[in-house]
Amino acid sequence: MIKIKSAYELERMRVSCGMAATVRDAVAKAIKPGVTTMELDEYAQELIAGMDAKSAFYGYRGFPGHICVSTNDEVVHGIPGKRLIQMGDILSVDFGVVYDGFVGDTATTVMVGVSDPEVIRLVTVTEQALQAAIDQAVAGRRLSDISHAVESVAVGAGFTVVRDFVGHGIGRSMHEEPQIPNFGAPGRGPKLKAGMTFALEPMVNLGSEEVEVMSDGWTVLTKDRKVSAHFEHTVAVGQEKAEILTIARK
Ligand code: MG
Repeated sequence: MIKIKSAYELERMRVSCGMAATVRDAVAKAIKPGVTTMELDEYAQELIAGMDAKSAFYGYRGFPGHICVSTNDEVVHGIPGKRLIQMGDILSVDFGVVYDGFVGDTATTVMVGVSDPEVIRLVTVTEQALQAAIDQAVAGRRLSDISHAVESVAVGAGFTVVRDFVGHGIGRSMHEEPQIPNFGAPGRGPKLKAGMTFALEPMVNLGSEEVEVMSDGWTVLTKDRKVSAHFEHTVAVGQEKAEILTIARK
């Protein structure tokens, strides 16, 4: 069953999602050559503590980081560590916060002095695929209209979408029903209703769609070791249009 959030619950999700967005944006700004991904994690930890919030990732099935940082051929679930950020890297920063019983989940991909036009195009298209997904999060559409929109944009641009990991419902838990694949035919699945809240998160690969999990048990990387990009927003389905909840608020 897909939960419909009340006005009160949505108001509380705006708060937790706003915090997630604030941390996402601050960590994204701190990305530069010479910084380690562990330093990004420590910075996030500090910001979260200052908000009296908690990372939804830290300790989740034993995950050791407060954020996920996935570099270049890593798709998602990268563990922060000693790796130094270098010119030409792309990094996806994924962060989930829990505040007052509600979760916000968001990710962005940052390019560090990238000059390869195909990589720049990949990152641009992945963000466009997320926007296309958000545009379908409207009452009356079917769930797979979201999936199809992502696939159309990504595959239409000559890239592939990861099939092993998907978007998800979100609210009091990080993962609620439904699962939201980034591929598939339109017009299928449950009818969307205002007040459903989803974490939409296209993962788009430059090469093959195939991925594998590293020996650390977490890091997902592309089998062909080509780069991958990832963007994510938590959104509320609306009557006329979706509301992006993971927007930094003052
Ligand atoms: Mg997510």
